[in-house]
Order: sequence, then C-alpha cells, then structure tokens
Amino acid sequence: MTAFNWRCEAVDGRARAGVLETAHGPVATPTFMPVGTVGTVKAMTMDAVRSTGAGIVLGNTYHLMLRPGAERVRALGGLHRMMDWPGPILTDSGGFQVMSLGALRKLDQDGVTFQSHIDGSKHRLDPERSTAIQYVLDATITMCFDECPALPAEAEAIAASMRLSMRWAARSREAFVQREGYGQFGIVQGGVEPELRAESAKALCDIGFEGYAIGGLAVGEGQELMFATLDVTTPLLPGDKPRYLMGVGTPDDLLGGVERGVDMFDCVMPTRAGRTARAYNERGTLNLRNARFATDARPISPDCDCLACSRHSRAYLHHLFRADEILGPMLLTWHNLAYYQRMMRGLRAAIIAGDLAAHGAALRAAWAQGDWTEDEWPQPSIPPVP
Ligand SMILES: [Zn+2]
Repeated sequence: MTAFNWRCEAVDGRARAGVLETAHGPVATPTFMPVGTVGTVKAMTMDAVRSTGAGIVLGNTYHLMLRPGAERVRALGGLHRMMDWPGPILTDSGGFQVMSLGALRKLDQDGVTFQSHIDGSKHRLDPERSTAIQYVLDATITMCFDECPALPAEAEAIAASMRLSMRWAARSREAFVQREGYGQFGIVQGGVEPELRAESAKALCDIGFEGYAIGGLAVGEGQELMFATLDVTTPLLPGDKPRYLMGVGTPDDLLGGVERGVDMFDCVMPTRAGRTARAYNERGTLNLRNARFATDARPISPDCDCLACSRHSRAYLHHLFRADEILGPMLLTWHNLAYYQRMMRGLRAAIIAGDLAAHGAALRAAWAQGDWTEDEWPQPSIPPVP
C-alpha cells in the first residue's frame, strides 16, 4: 500500500508543483477537482472526466447520506466502485451544505439538526457522524466537519464560529480511522481577519492533519480580499502538506491561488457553466446562446482536443442550447472541464520551468483580449472531419 503523502517537485515563488500519493493512485498538483456532488459529475460519463486529465473528484457527504444513503453506497462497493472512479475521491463534510439550509437547520455546540431538502425528514450531522459517513463512503480524503459563516459578518461572530469549528476539528480528528493511503484535512476558518486565520491555522497544525484546506472564502468577499486572506494564510501552513482552497473558482481565481501556494481547488463553475451555455477558453468566456454564434463555424477553442472542439462548431452548440437538447450541456461541460485541466497542467509545467510569472501574465493578457477575430484565428474555420 502507498502511504498518503504529498511530495514537492518544484517551487516557483510561493507556487508549488508536486505529487499527492494516495491509496487510489497519484495526483499531480496543482490540481482542479471536478465536483461530483451526488456521485456523478453532472452531464459527464467518468470516461469523459478521465479523458480531460482529471486526477481526483469530489463527492458530498450531505447529498449522499440523504440519497442513496451511505450504507447503500457501501453495499454497492463504495463510492469509487459505484460511480466507476477508481482514482482518489475527496468528500466534503456536509457542513457547508447544512449551513446553507437556513431555516431548515438548527445549530448547537455539538452539531447540526436539519431537515432534508428532498423530503423534509429530520437528520443530524456532527463531527463524529460526518467522519463516520465519509469512512463508509470510502473517501480517500475526509474533510473535517465545520461551520462556515456567510460573509460579511461581525468579527466577533466569525471568531466564535471559527473557535467552534476548531473544537469540531479536534473531534473530527478523534473520530478519523487511520488507513494506509487515506488522509483527513483540517479546514482553516476565520473570515477575512488575519489574526483569526492565524489562530485557526495554529489550532489545526497543533492537532496535525494530512492536509490543510482554506474554507470560508469565495462566499461574497470578492477576489481582492480572498487573495489578501490567502497571502496571510498559506505561509502559516506546513510546507510539506497539501493545501486546498475550497469552492474556488474562475480560471483567474485558480491562477491567483496557485501563485499564493495553493495545490488543490474545486468548484461547480466549469460544470454549472457548461449546463448554461457559458464556455471558458484561452480568451475568456463565451455565452453560446448569443445570436452571434448562430453562424460561427469555428470550435470553442483552437487549442482544445475535447470532443466538442474536435468535432463540433460553436454554431452547432448554439443550436443545441437553443433547442434545449441534452447534448449541449454534455459537450460544453466536457469542454469546460478540459479547459480547466489544460490550464492547470500549463501552470504545473510553468512552475517546474520556473516561468510562472511570465506564464500567468500571458494568461491574464489573453483573457482580457476577448474572442479571436477571424484574422487572428490560427486555422481553417471549419474543423476537419477526423
Ligand atoms: Zn474543447
């Protein structure tokens, strides 16, 4: 068996390239993790997810415990077998989803009682139960159960919430069953207050985890404050452990996170955008519902080898979305995930080459430029039939 371990291969400024070794195989970092909330990356087969180069995917404790149920997942061979993803899986603890339930949940010092968003049935999650469910699901990486306050909030409320999360982190660690190649991540909280982030990072490092996540960001504070918070947080985390920025973000957010020493990201953005006709590429974003794409025979990107770009035009995708055809979301999700993975591979290569500053500047300049004009387009505008 392989020990759970993150090995650093190269450093460029504060950015790191490395390899995360797990019981379910290695993951090259920095990495973007597609979100498979209920045991599926929406609109994608797992072969398609694999073809984009994804190394690890997410599952969600809250959703899977309600449906189909953790014991059902175990009876079906565990989450890896059930969804046909033998690679590493990280499961969210359910804390964030439960907190988002608003009036449907009641928080106490011990845990959270809530009503299912599906049928109104009553459930409870606390650090011990969340950790046990993630064990039953067979998560490669288990997340601590924590509370995530919405921003903006008073510093006092953020502090009380963070300290509660740190007590819960100690209980989550206590409940975690050590297995070769499996790991558990603590989650740094503390809003955008540097001293609270420092207190939280120290509390987690004193407990000791296989990796450290930065939570409670991308919840409305804006990119500038998010980056400022990363600037004060990542230097406080152990240099030999992986760092995961939760729920982030746009390509530009990912670049800024990598530059600040983050190794792992997850976000619904590329998959959700793929279902709503928004495409990411080297020149920013396109809304394929826009009438100007009705006659655009070019693929979404000249540099992409995904199924959408190698076989289909923007005009065809525009038609699929206009006609509400299910193939539209499938093809565009595939493309967006392919773009995110290609961008992450590019960042990793740039870190290894010691070239991240120039590479990042070139990415930002191209995003700002907007779509290729016909003159700039580097190849014939109708893709050849393979
Ligand atoms: Zn593509």
